[in-house]
Amino acid sequence: MARRRVALVTGGAGFVGSHLSERLLAEGCEVVCVDSFITGSPQNVSHLGGRFFLLERDVRRPIRIPGRVDEVYHLASPASPKSFGPLAIEILESGSAGTRNVLELARSKNARFLLASTSEVYGDPLVHPQPEDYRGNVSTTGVRGAYDEAKRYAEALTSAYRRRHRLQTRIARIFNTYGPRMRPDDGRLVPNLVRQALAGEPLTVYGDGTQTRSLQYVDDLVEGLLLLMRSDEAQPVNLGNPEERSVLEIAELVSRLAGGEGRIVHLPPPEDDPRRRSPDISRARASLGWEPVVDLEEGLARTIRWFAAGAGARKRAAR
Ligand code: NAD
Ligand code: UDP
Repeated sequence: MARRRVALVTGGAGFVGSHLSERLLAEGCEVVCVDSFITGSPQNVSHLGGRFFLLERDVRRPIRIPGRVDEVYHLASPASPKSFGPLAIEILESGSAGTRNVLELARSKNARFLLASTSEVYGDPLVHPQPEDYRGNVSTTGVRGAYDEAKRYAEALTSAYRRRHRLQTRIARIFNTYGPRMRPDDGRLVPNLVRQALAGEPLTVYGDGTQTRSLQYVDDLVEGLLLLMRSDEAQPVNLGNPEERSVLEIAELVSRLAGGEGRIVHLPPPEDDPRRRSPDISRARASLGWEPVVDLEEGLARTIRWFAAGAGARKRAAR
């Protein structure tokens, strides 16, 4: 009988980590999730049982896990721009000491290691769409620098472990991803717009709304992460949906789907807000045979349904 694969997911109680854990369990893996709950919550994984183990740990300190581990998915890091100021030092430490500790763990277990990196390594890109060999336009000292540089360092460290220790490493450069289980107060575009539309509040658009993003539904990302882990692609791979929309278009779409009154208020743009962002996914197509399949309207509709159900439950609990 084939032995059961054991996967470790750091940041497993967060938005992406909870979906990834769910999928790994469905595939028959045993899943160990470590999380400090700084931006995630045990509630995100409270429905998972059986072969699922949740440990409260901060990866900024060395971690020990008993037994065998085959695959390590390193997702532990705050990710919302709302955290970039208040959690700047925690972000830098999670990307540096945290990544080192998790790489050491993978090395001690002879496990494969996958880093959840980000399109933020491209900063405010001067090349469009962004291929993996574009080296980026990042301000080291700006408020986004904490996150961008933490991930750039994490990529460099991961690559050093691959060269020095021959560790099997994978680097996913994840573009904006959305879906159920994002925190309503997370601060990112989709949860903000959906929460506002459902509450009948005006939708906040930062700046004039002509800046673009390319939004990927979480199920597509999870599929890409699994395919990448099990491929032999050691170079960074963009995982994102190439369908590019302006922020204003996204706000209008959410408003239409959620049935809000559609009023938009413009707020000042955040510092260093990238103007355009869209992945070139040629490498993912060629190496993994992967491309996103959930279109924006469908993914947003699923997300709105999940937020609406949660808002209903919160109202009932408050009565
Ligand atoms: P999230 O905040 O929901 O999840 C991050 C999880 O990591 C949380 O559960 C948090 O408590 C945990 N965590 C943070 N620091 C930790 C530490 N030091 N020790 C242990 N746990 C810690 O965010 P997310 O959107 O699910 O992001 C997951 C990963 O994917 C992050 O590494 C993020 O940088 C990357 N990513 C996400 C996106 C996106 O659009 N969602 C885009 C690019 C990259
Ligand atoms: N944004 C917005 N209104 C909001 C939240 C975000 O207009 O309520 C904009 C933000 O300025 C950026 C884009 O939406 O241009 C995506 O922001 P998000 O925080 O989701 O992620 P980012 O891609 O900036 O990391």
